[in-house]
Amino acid sequence: MKTRVIFLGAPGSGKGTQAEKLAREMYLPHIDTGSMLREERASGSEEGKIAEKYMSEGQLVPMELVVKIIRNRLLKPDAKNGFILDGFPRSVEQAEELDKILAEIDEKIDYVINIDLDENVLIDRMAYRRSCKNCGQKYNLKFNPSEKDGICFVCGGILVQRADDNIETATKRIQTYKAETEPVIEYYRKKKLVKDIDGNRAIDDIFGDIMKIVKVKA
Ligand code: AMP
Repeated sequence: MKTRVIFLGAPGSGKGTQAEKLAREMYLPHIDTGSMLREERASGSEEGKIAEKYMSEGQLVPMELVVKIIRNRLLKPDAKNGFILDGFPRSVEQAEELDKILAEIDEKIDYVINIDLDENVLIDRMAYRRSCKNCGQKYNLKFNPSEKDGICFVCGGILVQRADDNIETATKRIQTYKAETEPVIEYYRKKKLVKDIDGNRAIDDIFGDIMKIVKVKA
């Protein structure tokens, strides 16, 4: 059975960690617009430079740019077996654009997993977030530390902090989430696709609940 999932949740809610785990477990592509934009930025392309301006301010990058990236990715053959969308859509306009792309390629969304977390812990989570510079493995110095201080437990790489995880940009990102992304939950609630998950728990407990949802059908 095909599984096509969207992950929603505030920055710092742990949605990226869960989306990545689910993609690995189900052998599905993890389509993460934040990472794709960071790659674009690192490539030094014109589009990457435009994206950087918005990302460093905690704002959404222009929709045309993200929709183009998502469209190209969903048209790749590996997305035919299903996909995990993480970080897209982030506004109702993007959700409407996604519906158009899905209609074009004769696909639909099976679940929208909404990870809910107390707002007061989001900033804390982002401030302690680190990832391996080498393999990308994610850690949190407080909630999910590496067993070796400052070093990736998987590959021995150095742990680094994302530029936009500083307090000022993180606060702005939460504001952007509330103003632009929260209405997307309602958009999908009307379509009866939303599954709410309590994100105030251990990573594996949250993941267990997500697997119960997708396994029912998969
Ligand atoms: P993330 O890694 O998901 O936290 O995304 C990092 C940043 O990339 C966001 O703060 C936005 O500036 C940008 N971004 C990621 N996904 C989108 C999207 N769907 N639409 C617009 N901007 C996005």
